Amino acid sequence: MKKQFAVIGLGRFGGSICKSLVEEGMEVLAIDENEEKVNEFASLATQAVIADTTDEKALRGLGIRNFDHVIVAIGDNIQASILTTLMLVEMNVKHITVKAQNDYHEKVLNRLGADEIVHPERDIGIRIAHSVVSKNVLDYLELSDEYSIVELGAGTTLHGETIVGLDLRAKYGCNILAVKRGDNIHVSPRPEEKIANGDILIVIGADDDINRLENQWIDEP
Ligand code: ATP
Repeated sequence: MKKQFAVIGLGRFGGSICKSLVEEGMEVLAIDENEEKVNEFASLATQAVIADTTDEKALRGLGIRNFDHVIVAIGDNIQASILTTLMLVEMNVKHITVKAQNDYHEKVLNRLGADEIVHPERDIGIRIAHSVVSKNVLDYLELSDEYSIVELGAGTTLHGETIVGLDLRAKYGCNILAVKRGDNIHVSPRPEEKIANGDILIVIGADDDINRLENQWIDEP
């Protein structure tokens, strides 16, 4: 059976999640208190309804507890986001993802028991900062406060080097998880594997070590 999603708040963030889920073939209930927003999504989502989700009766009336995954994408109105999340948790919704506006908001959502808290503006900011520091950084994923995974374009200077020759573990305390080559991904590459033009190295390490690696990366702009 198809997974059933509900998206609350159809701003830019909630709206784009809603569209992408529909494109992936999922069943999506789109909810917003604003009629115009709901009309905008009426033909796209499986169902689109006007509701103020801080109203417990309205929320229950939507049968929200039967959904597999509810995404709370209410932006500026932090109070509404918190209240909605609290009720979803109390209703034992299986999986709740909430967009946090700031660190305090995130702390409260954590306490309430949201399963997943996303911070899109902050995360995109961090990713862009890393990619402008070094032109080799193609993507950046924070795993925890201390550890990250980074995608580094090998550039032309590394052509023909071996994984063991680079010795990122000894020099930077980082490990190469995989090498992307075209459409193929070589997971746990062998030490003697040679790097080719256009390869992308997927590297894991502590933030400080990754920062050193990015700053000293061979193919400077
Ligand atoms: P984004 O940054 O994603 O574009 P935004 O700035 O559009 O977000 P908001 O306008 O704050 O974010 O909120 C997103 C949506 O959530 C809005 O369309 C708003 O009408 C809706 N919303 C806010 N409060 C509630 C509520 N209590 N019940 C249902 N929808 C709500």
